[in-house]
Amino acid sequence: MNYRHAYHAGNFADVLKHSVLFALIQALKAKDTPFALIDTHAGSGCYALDSEEAGKTGEYREGITRLLFPDLQRSEQTPLPPLLRHWLDAILALPGNEHGLKLYPGSPLQAALTMRATDSVQLCELHPEEVSRLRELFHHDHRVHVHHRNGYEALKALLPPKEKRGLVLIDPPYEAQDSEFRLIEAALQTALQRWPNGIYAVWYPIKLRSQSQPFLRWLQRCGARRVLQAELLVHPDDSPLRLNGSGMAIINAPWNLHQVLHEPLQAMARLLSQERAAAWRLNWLVQENDTQALQAH
Ligand code: SAM
Repeated sequence: MNYRHAYHAGNFADVLKHSVLFALIQALKAKDTPFALIDTHAGSGCYALDSEEAGKTGEYREGITRLLFPDLQRSEQTPLPPLLRHWLDAILALPGNEHGLKLYPGSPLQAALTMRATDSVQLCELHPEEVSRLRELFHHDHRVHVHHRNGYEALKALLPPKEKRGLVLIDPPYEAQDSEFRLIEAALQTALQRWPNGIYAVWYPIKLRSQSQPFLRWLQRCGARRVLQAELLVHPDDSPLRLNGSGMAIINAPWNLHQVLHEPLQAMARLLSQERAAAWRLNWLVQENDTQALQAH
């Protein structure tokens, strides 16, 4: 339990993760009926970018900061695609950010900022300090419930949510990468039995490509009807020593999510490139027709 998200908040991986989260919440808001968000690994909910931790790595400067000043990155002044613009506006509207980006909201606060009065949020977190921060941050918000417990185990109790629609975000620290992937697979297997129609969004790191392949293959066999993969790589995926990129795997992705994310991913690749041009991938790992074909055999 050494991982603290304060060192990484707002980095290039958070930009991908949280803009996809924003797109999923927008898709769920297209219907009036309430929905639930279950965040299995919540972190502390909000991060000061002038903290010692954020300053030590400076990762946000290669992430969210690049979106704030897009014209500094490239000579052409291409406006941000609407999804990224609206996502950024929601972050800048956070009290404390009136005079520029000082606070970076983590997934729990990003969700709370964009969800409606009738929607609900379940947050699981194991680190006691992060749990107290979450409780302090949300003590006034009746929609948000904080659980000091293992997020994988909590899924058994929390699924299906009473709203019968919504999203599970799985964003673990991957301190031991291979075993974390196996924990996710086991948790998803149980979760999909309890709630086959839920949307599940899993963030995964990309260091060596071969490390994430078994998980991606598992997703193709897990029985889900639709699985979309969105990846952004700022370095080639051939070194185990650093975070070269990351991905979001979305089970039961809304049918038009591919279209919704296409332009934002292109823009992220343009804005977040480091020594060489960033690469991106947006790909159906499982499409509805594939499942029908499998069932027909
Ligand atoms: N989802 C957050 C966000 O986007 O702002 C960041 C989460 S951070 C990557 C991972 C968090 O998971 C850490 O705060 C860590 O303490 C917590 N954690 C680790 N193992 C856990 C478990 N089994 N259940 C719940 N939380 C866990």
